[in-house]
This record gives sequence, C-alpha cells and structure tokens, in this order.
Amino acid sequence: MPAETTPMMQQYLDIKAQNPDSILFFRLGDFYEMFNEDAKLVSKELDLTLTTRDRNKPPEERTPMCGVPYHSCDSYIARLIAKGYKVAICEQTEDPALAKGLVDREIIRVITPGTVIASSMLEEGKNNYICAVYADSAAFGLCLCDISTGEVYATSFPAGAEALDHLENELGRFHPAEAVLSDGAFQLDGLVPFLRERLDCPCENGGEARFRLDAARPLVEKQFKAGLDTLPRGDEGAVQAAGGLLTYLYETQKTDLSHIANFTYYTAEQFMELDLTARQTLELTSTLRSKDKKGSLLWVLDKTKTAMGGRLLRGWMERPLLSPVQIGRRQQAVSDLVEDIITREELALTLREVTDLERLIGRVVYGSAGGRDLVALSGGLARLPRIRELLGHCPSALLQSLREELDDLPEVRDLLDRALVDEPPFSVREGGFIRDGYDPEVDEQRNLLEHSAELLAQLEARTKEQTGIKNMKIKSNKVFGYYIEVAKSQIDLVPPEWARKQTTVNAERYISQELKELEHAILSAQDKVTALEYQIFCQLKGAVCAQVYRVQKSAAAVAQVDVLNSFAAVAAANGYCMPQVDASNSLTIVEGRHPVVEKVLKNALFVPNDTHMDCGQDMCAIITGPNMAGKSTYMRQVALIVLMAQMGSFVPAKSAHIGVVDRVFTRIGASDDLSAGQSTFMVEMTEVAALLKNATRRSLLILDEIGRGTSTYDGMAIARAVLEHCADPRRLGAKTLFATHYHELTALEGQIPGVKNYNIAAKKKGSDVIFLRKIVRGGADQSYGVEVAKLAGVPDRVVRRAREILEELEAGVPQPAAGTQPSVEEQISLGDLGGQTVLKKLRMTDVNVLSPIEALNLLAEL
Ligand code: ADP
Repeated sequence: MPAETTPMMQQYLDIKAQNPDSILFFRLGDFYEMFNEDAKLVSKELDLTLTTRDRNKPPEERTPMCGVPYHSCDSYIARLIAKGYKVAICEQTEDPALAKGLVDREIIRVITPGTVIASSMLEEGKNNYICAVYADSAAFGLCLCDISTGEVYATSFPAGAEALDHLENELGRFHPAEAVLSDGAFQLDGLVPFLRERLDCPCENGGEARFRLDAARPLVEKQFKAGLDTLPRGDEGAVQAAGGLLTYLYETQKTDLSHIANFTYYTAEQFMELDLTARQTLELTSTLRSKDKKGSLLWVLDKTKTAMGGRLLRGWMERPLLSPVQIGRRQQAVSDLVEDIITREELALTLREVTDLERLIGRVVYGSAGGRDLVALSGGLARLPRIRELLGHCPSALLQSLREELDDLPEVRDLLDRALVDEPPFSVREGGFIRDGYDPEVDEQRNLLEHSAELLAQLEARTKEQTGIKNMKIKSNKVFGYYIEVAKSQIDLVPPEWARKQTTVNAERYISQELKELEHAILSAQDKVTALEYQIFCQLKGAVCAQVYRVQKSAAAVAQVDVLNSFAAVAAANGYCMPQVDASNSLTIVEGRHPVVEKVLKNALFVPNDTHMDCGQDMCAIITGPNMAGKSTYMRQVALIVLMAQMGSFVPAKSAHIGVVDRVFTRIGASDDLSAGQSTFMVEMTEVAALLKNATRRSLLILDEIGRGTSTYDGMAIARAVLEHCADPRRLGAKTLFATHYHELTALEGQIPGVKNYNIAAKKKGSDVIFLRKIVRGGADQSYGVEVAKLAGVPDRVVRRAREILEELEAGVPQPAAGTQPSVEEQISLGDLGGQTVLKKLRMTDVNVLSPIEALNLLAEL
C-alpha cells in the first residue's frame, strides 16, 4: 500500500470497500483499471500484464495495477463472469471537462454470472437463470429469474425429510448460473456443495435481511404485474425467496427492471420430477461423456427456428407435464402440423426470420439496446401477421389461442420503421440512425452539414471578390479549424479585421468573422444532430418500453408455435406416432425405438421392441442378456418415450399408451462421482436410497445392474432386496425395468406377482455371438461374455484362455488348482510378484470396492 494516498486512490478504495466481493472495473479515461488484489487476480486469470502506477517508489509501496480498454471490455468481462466472478462497473458520472477537481464516480452496475444481459455473454438457445433460495424450519422457497428474458418462476414446499432432495431436483431442472441463499438455506446440509460441485453454480450467503417477509411482500407486489394471483395465500416461502432475489437484483443492476413483470408460481404437482442423475443419465440435453448437445435427446428434438423456441423446448424437456389434458392440447397442435406439410414448412421458413423478441425487449427496457436492436425488434414483429395467417389453417385449440396472442404491435412497428434507417450504426451516441424526413430539425441540421462544402465555396468566392485577393483558399486542419490561406505575395490586400492564425513558408493563414460564424454553425450542427438523434432514440425506446408486456406475450406465443412446429417436423421426419396419454397406470409401447440411437446407428437398422407394463399384472421386467445386447438402450428408450409423451411430443413407436408417470428414476451404469471422493458403490447406493425414499406407485424405475459395485453375494442380496421392494404391489409396486447379470434373480418370476422375465436375444454362431436386439420373454440362458470380449478385440490367446477357464468352471473344477494351469505358452506373466504375502494380500482384496486413492495406496504398499 502506498505511503500517502492520492484523492483518486482514496475514491477507489472507498468504492472498493463497499463492493468487497466484486472485481472493481474503475473507469479512468479510455480504460477500466484494477488495482491491488483485483489487479493481481485479473492479470492472472486473463493473462494481462501487471503494472504499477508509481514506478519511482520502492517496490513494496507500489500499487499493482492492470487495465482493459473501455471499448473492448465486454470480452474481458465475459471471461471473468464465466469463471464465476462478479464485476462491478464504476463509471465517471460527470463530464471530466466540467468537473472541478476529482471526477465523481459511481458503480453503475454489478455484472454477475446470473445477471449477464449482453448477447455476447449468453447462449442463444438457453436460459440464464439466477435463483434465490429461502429456507426456515417450516418451509423452503425457491425463486428463479432470467433477467435477459424477464421470466420468473417460484415455488415452495414444506420443510421436511424430502424437502432438500426436492429442492435439489428443482435446482437441477433450471440449472441456475448463480444462487443467492438465505442464511437458513446456506446452512442446509449439502446444498452448497450440490450447487457448487454438481451444478457448477457459484453461490453465496445472501444473509437474512434481504429475505425478510415484511420487506419482501411489498417488493413482490410492486415488481410483478401479472401472475401474482397464482400465488397461494399464506405461501410465504415463495414470497421470501422472490423478495430476496429482487433485493439482490436491485442492488446489483441499478436500472429499470420493469420487463421482469410476469410471475409464474408452480407446484410439484404440475411437472414430472426428475433428479439430476436421471437428467444426466438419460442424456436429455447433453451426453454423459462429451457434455455435447450432439447425441442428446435435445439434439434429435430441437428443430426450432427461433432462439425463443430453442429455450422453450429445453424448458419443456426440463418440465414434462403431468396433466393429460394439457398434454393432449399440445398433441392436438402437433397433430395439426404433422398433417399439414405446407403449413408446417411455411411456418418454419417464417419463424426463421423472427428475431429474439424476448431478449431484444429485455435489452430495450434494461437500457442496453441500440438502434440495431430496435430495428431487429420491428423486423421480428413484422413476421407475425404471416404466422397468424398460416395458423389459420390449424384447427387445434392451442394453436388457435396462440394465434390470438400473436400481436405484431403495428403502431410500434410503424413508428420504428418511419424513424430508423434500415441498417443503423452500432452506437447510438454518434448519430446517423434516424431516417431522413422523420424529424424536421434533424433534417435541417443535416442539410447544413451536407451543404457545408458549398457554403464554404460560396464564402470563398465572395471574399475573393470583396478583397480582390486572387491567391486565397479556405482550408481546415485539426489544430486551427477553418482558416483563409493567403499567398505571401498578396498579404497586403488582407483586411485589417482578419485575425492572423499561423505563418507558413509561402503563406499566411487568417480567420475572418464570417468564416468563424460559418465554422461554428457547421461544427455545432454535427453536435446538434447527434444530440437530437439520441433524444429521439430515447423517445422511441420509451414508446417500445410502454408495450413491454405485449411484446413478451407475443414472444411467448412465437416460442410455443416454434416448439410445436419443431415437434411436428421431427415426428414427420422420423415416423413418430401420437401416444395416447391418460391417467391410467398403463405403459404399452408397440415397436418402440430409441430416438437417439436410431439416428446414430450407422450401417445398421434399429430393431424396434415392445413394452407392456400394467398395474398389478406386469409391473416389473427383469431383463437379462449378454453385455452389448441392448439392455440399457431398451430401458432408456422406454424412459425417453414416456418423457417425450409427457412433453407433448410424438414418440418413436408404432403406437403407445402411456399413463402419466410422476417421476422417472434411473440407476444406470457406473456414473462415477469419483471426483467427489466417493466410490462407485457408494454413489450407486446413494442413488438407490434416494429412489427408494422418493418413488411412488406412479413412478417409472430404470435400474441397471444394481449391486455390481460390490462382491457377488453382497451385490446379489442387495439387488434382490431392492427388486422385491420395488416390484411387490404390497410395497412400492412401481413400474420397474431391472437389468441384471444375476441370472439367479429370474427365479423371482412366479414368486412376486407382476414380475416377468425378459431377455434380449442373442445367439451363438460358431465361436461368435450374434445380437438379435429383440426383447423376448424368459431369462437368458447364457451371458456370452467371452464372445463379447472377442468382439471387442481382446487378443485371441486371452479369449482362448478365458474359454478354457469357463469350461472348467462349468464342469465344476475348483479354481485355481495345480491341474488347471494354462499351457505354458499362453500364460500371461505378471512378473515376480514378490512372494506369498503380496499374493495373499491381493487375494484378500476386493478391487470392486476400492476407491481410486485406496487402490493407488495399495499398489504403493505392495
Ligand atoms: P447392454 O446394456 O446390454 O450392454 P447397450 O444397450 O449398451 O447394451 O447396447 C449396445 C449397442 O447395441 C448400442 O450402442 C447400440 O449401438 C446397439 N443396439 C442396442 N439396441 C439396439 C436395437 N434395438 N437395434 C439396433 N441396435 C441396437
């Protein structure tokens, strides 16, 4: 720290002290500067040079500093936000030219991961939510907001044993970019690690004061203009969460947030619940391995043409419906569009030209929009009449009501089209975007500017005539502005009232009163036009802002039309059918297919399979079959078809009858959470525990190889106990698909009502195996492990040896015994293992239950 602090540095330190948890971007001329710890941090994170302001001081007294140019700050801010930092923007709030002494500076906005609004920092087809969580001993409240689109959702539920699980599921659904927690929520066991580690969401303790009910309620009532009637009386958790969120937004955004007006309260009963594990293992929006959209369900279903539709489709996927009536409404709409190819394709073409109305209007209200945004808004709205016209061909109730909501705001469009040029420049501060003929004063000043050359020429001619100076010219330069240049030979003709400005080798330069006045008019015309244009821009913005609600409503309708049309396009292209969805407990799929696998299979046809599960009779399918047979594909296919049906989409099947499912649980494969320090088995059991705790009779359970992570007997015992619990109608009795390697479990058919054995057929051809991919009744007779190993490219001699051991095992020969040593040339040597102790230790170890660290330690010990 420097010994004495300059006034400006003191100003910096004061402002920094008020914003200790943000990186302070301090405006100095054309740069944002950072000092001290902020400078060190940013120079490291962004690879910028760390400098200092005071090189003449001893090193320990110098102030570390680093800076970024003001005009290109966005990309630097975006990178810091992506790393989870907050950036406080501190601007000069008075004109440095007019300031007496130190220029006033103020924080104009704090940009945080959950509150970015610049399109460069946002993903088009994805919402960017910030959430607030309130928790006390009676209730949990959750509120989420995307400030770029103005959407707000809130929910609440009683505090209790399952409340934390439920809260985490809701958070997983919205995947917020930032979380503000009340004290009580921050202390909930496991919530902060869940947010930080599993959702990669920065979160902070927002204290208790922001969430106080007496303060929250008036804020909520003032901010939200619609939807408050959906909020149940006495539901305080949701109000407190919303109040906490609003307070945080006001503190950081410091600007008009009137576009955040539409409040949506929802309850758990409206949507199918899915936990994060199920979302991830079913690969809804990204694949497990590469985290890419490609290969996910969204990748197949998303044929939306607008950014709004893209975001809504994701939303529908995150929130499948439970009401058969609502699902039916969507289905009817999709059906209209499936049947009418011309309307469908014309709609797609038109939708492609609709701009992101939702985020455009957000930026207009927020104050960050420019002329281009207004032109884009008007251009987008201009497509809506055509969409309305096309929807005229569609009888379904939903499309008809959406059609009515498509308001193209003709008067606003007319105003914008008359006022703005077709392609406005980027900045609204430099003029050039108001159309000629819109404003008489702008026209007049522009006229002056345009004709300045003429006026100067006229003045020059007049002056020549009046003075008789032939050798003179009116010129201008940056330093002196306009001047009259007179050749040295004629300076004696110069009138005495001209003021001399400069002498050059061959000439003298002067300024006359008349020239001075003309110069002033020309220069001020430029400033005047710029100021006038900006003023008009603000009026236009005001006129648009006044209609924010109408624009948002239209945008929401466009988004729905787009998603429904995308469903129809996908259904038509892939031969999907409309499932019958009702409140029954049935799950019947005829010739179902996996929507993603069928698209990625190269050189092979997907083999469709049936599913039939019914309350009481066929509740539970035990599925056996060799590895690679297609068990896991089959089970996921059933889950995805159910999910798609409840989104309102058609499904990849010949026909389907689906009773709504309240929740899909998955326990699939080894989705290791090893980074969190848990063993595979521990992860598996945690998921099983959650499932057993939360599943209901209406849930669909997908269980793949329960118990694989521990020793055979333990594993089988657990698998059987879990299966008995899930399948038995006297206990959980939920629809269960259970894939297992433990052929012994097939004995449960006949013992537990509703349990049926299935296997995915494979047959042996010589020493090879052929997968038929067909699910058939009955347990599998063989596991074909050795054949699959061969198929996977395990070297021949190892495969031969495995087959040898297998035959001996099947013949009941004890292992390992002297007589069963492999023939010498086939032995795989592990080298000298260092004696019996090591061998003994190895034999006593069950590698299945070792964590990676334990395994490494063991290896080191050996
Ligand atoms: P398992 O779970 O039995 O080990 P998977 O479900 O992982 O097997 O399937 C292995 C591969 O078989 C899949 O990646 C896919 O390429 C193919 N497959 C699975 N089911 C089918 C099917 N019904 N039709 C065609 N190919 C399939």
